[in-house]
Amino acid sequence: MSRDTKTIVISFDGLGTPDWDIMMDKPNFSRFVEKAAFCLHVEAVYPSLTYPSHATISTGRWPKNHGVTNNKVTDFHHPITADWYWYRKCVKGKTFYDVAAEKGMTSAALLWPTAGGGAITYNVPEIFQNRIWKNQVYMSLHNGCPQQLILAARYGRYLLHGVGQPYLDTFVHRSALYLMNRYDPDLIMIHYCDLDHNRHRFGHDSKQAMDALERHDRRLGDWMSRMKAWQQEKEGRGVNWVILGDHSSLDENKAIRLNRLLAQQGLLKLRGKKIVSAKVFAKEAGGSCCLYGGEDLTRELIFPKLRRTQILSDQERADLTKRLVRMLKDFSREHGDCIEAVYTGKEAGAMGADPNCLVMCEASLGYYFQESPQEPVIYGLGDSEYDPQGHRQRRLDRATHGYSPRKPGYTTVFAVRTDKPRQQSNVQSGDLTAKEGFELDRMRLIDEGPTIARMLGGDLPQADGRFLSELFEG
Ligand SMILES: [Zn+2]
Repeated sequence: MSRDTKTIVISFDGLGTPDWDIMMDKPNFSRFVEKAAFCLHVEAVYPSLTYPSHATISTGRWPKNHGVTNNKVTDFHHPITADWYWYRKCVKGKTFYDVAAEKGMTSAALLWPTAGGGAITYNVPEIFQNRIWKNQVYMSLHNGCPQQLILAARYGRYLLHGVGQPYLDTFVHRSALYLMNRYDPDLIMIHYCDLDHNRHRFGHDSKQAMDALERHDRRLGDWMSRMKAWQQEKEGRGVNWVILGDHSSLDENKAIRLNRLLAQQGLLKLRGKKIVSAKVFAKEAGGSCCLYGGEDLTRELIFPKLRRTQILSDQERADLTKRLVRMLKDFSREHGDCIEAVYTGKEAGAMGADPNCLVMCEASLGYYFQESPQEPVIYGLGDSEYDPQGHRQRRLDRATHGYSPRKPGYTTVFAVRTDKPRQQSNVQSGDLTAKEGFELDRMRLIDEGPTIARMLGGDLPQADGRFLSELFEG
């Protein structure tokens, strides 16, 4: 690909297959799709969480291969505030933005998950202060670009309400347009979280989620107008577009707290609400949950003091796995079949998830997992959870993701479009042209990285997925 082409990758967090028809009724999205090649059934990764998904989108690899198998690292000392996999160094394998860097392209990334400290020219990483002794400004600047200070000065007012929505996306949107206007980067990657945030809080089909879709359409419209003007300013230059969702989501109204069950079984020790030691720890992934034991419990902790390794022999591991499978199946049977499936680590690995877990379980429809070790083990969602202003009074979600890609209707979407320059003769050979209005029946999230890499003129040799040539002419 020539550097005459700009590539824009927009991730609308949580945009799933059911959203497509709603978006097609909106002016900008429908106009965008007219000239795009797209797929409405993109198989997610397991667990279908934002960080594993974006690491897969970036590398084309299964979570077990890129290593980001959850949003957060395993840390039973801080189950709620554990570090997230914020950094590029957490991701194994080449990313599509590494391809851009290799080709000497400049890039901008706004809140792109798992990209902190990555080879990105203008990086506003998704990192947040999770410990009192850490400093947000230092963490962001250390892993991102100095221009964040300018962005904070210009658009920080949108964050005066905290990182709630739509304020955070407004900040991201304004910042991305500013970086575009000021620095004209060759690759722009944007992660908008408005929809996902509102779905978690208010439910899949809530008015708040529908309003977020409306705002997403306007954001896309802003980019389409901006790029049209840019193409007029810069004769002979093209724009490659990628629009994607990272996963779908499902409504639920009950949380399963397996760490409470583990405490009841003597596999975890509590002092008040705090976990003081664990033989097994249940690490939630929204609609699924991985149970870890032995050295996997503390492997990822930053402080060596906390990294107390308990080695499990193969026999102990096998016995513990067997015990957990039986315990979870019995528990589910006694509690309305709340757990749909229990997989061994080996079975989880075969689905691309973390093979190092002792077991991985999948919640039934209507349920999800929480890490809280507090009572009760199954926590129902009452209507009183939100006060009349809609502020959360207790920590429970209305909709979530992280479920198995095998859940029916639980796919996400992907679209590519290539706006060529008016003088076609300027198009260098090797440039891809998306088939206008072409619909691909099925694809997998692991195919996105290799496809975006090829649009940038490179490839990802370690990817598990493939370049989707069917989306392009020729
Ligand atoms: Zn997400």
